[in-house]
Amino acid sequence: MSYTLNDKIKNMTPYDPVSGEFDIRLDANESFITPPQEIIDEIKESVLKTNFNRYPDPMASKLCKLFGNYYGVDSELVTAGNGSDELISIIANSFLQKGDKAMVLAPDFSMYKFYLKLAECECVTYEKKEDFRVDFDNLIYAIQSREIKLIIFSNPCNPTSVGFEAKQMRKLIRSVDALVVLDEAYMDFYDQSLINEAADYDNLIILRTCSKAFGMAAIRLGFAVANKTLTNALRSTKSPYNVNSVTQAVGCVIFSHPDYLRDCVDKIKKSRDELYNKLTTLQRLNPGRIRVVEPVTNFVYVWQDNAGGLYNILKSHGIVVRNIGEYLRITAGTPDENNAVLKVIERCL
Ligand SMILES: *Cc1c(COP(=O)(O)O)cnc(C)c1O
Repeated sequence: MSYTLNDKIKNMTPYDPVSGEFDIRLDANESFITPPQEIIDEIKESVLKTNFNRYPDPMASKLCKLFGNYYGVDSELVTAGNGSDELISIIANSFLQKGDKAMVLAPDFSMYKFYLKLAECECVTYEKKEDFRVDFDNLIYAIQSREIKLIIFSNPCNPTSVGFEAKQMRKLIRSVDALVVLDEAYMDFYDQSLINEAADYDNLIILRTCSKAFGMAAIRLGFAVANKTLTNALRSTKSPYNVNSVTQAVGCVIFSHPDYLRDCVDKIKKSRDELYNKLTTLQRLNPGRIRVVEPVTNFVYVWQDNAGGLYNILKSHGIVVRNIGEYLRITAGTPDENNAVLKVIERCL
């Protein structure tokens, strides 16, 4: 007897961000801010109160309420997930059937394709223009003429840091029969969200995460916001206890501190602007060698004529960023971290 893996999974390998120890990690778009002692103390207290022998609240009701309060959204339209990654997986597996066509944009977040393929969908890629923008009339035509059942993309975009306008999103959603999954993982840094309009559309799911703006990547917490019918489908097809009690407790503490969350966003944007401004100076001094995309997220996207080489040099200095083809994606860090990465880039140029 012999068991063989099916074609779908036989060549897959575990996700490996970067192996090795690095002094400066600017590769995963995490926050450089950790909560102050008062909030840490509240977290400790709430974790100690967890009923460890009991299953978590399957609907994470208190957490969804606090999330809803923060964004001004009815908590009846909110579903919590074990990171927004889990929600992407649930959406791919529940809202699509084998062989259905789903569309992704390129460049965009690589995990979309990963989950869509695991869900045995046909994945259609729509290439963005050279400036990473999109002709939405053309995109709408592509979705409709190819009978796409679902389109998923990030706004603002990871990795390009380019944002689309809310009015473009509204037009897209209204003009297609497909389910539009709008991943707003970085929308806390931008101001074109549709989160307060989710109830107005029967084909829109918005995704949010605590991993980027709020510095909570460790607890794995994301949210989906959609109308009642879609929310009911999401809640009905997720695994019942998907968000563990410790994460729910920590999440409740975090969303009870809206001023802290807004302060985090302000600090990160400031760091991002510093990084961007200094890179534009390098661009001015080194024409044709480095080019920075104007950012609306917590990272910058930089074209460099030797991106792969520069990536390795940074690594040898204990600094890790993300290398995507001819580009580097650099997360905004502390002033010291930003200066360290800028110093190496400047010397290489
Ligand atoms: C980081 C990221 C996510 C993942 O968020 P988690 O909640 O940590 O799973 C989702 N979408 C985009 C575009 C991201 O960059």
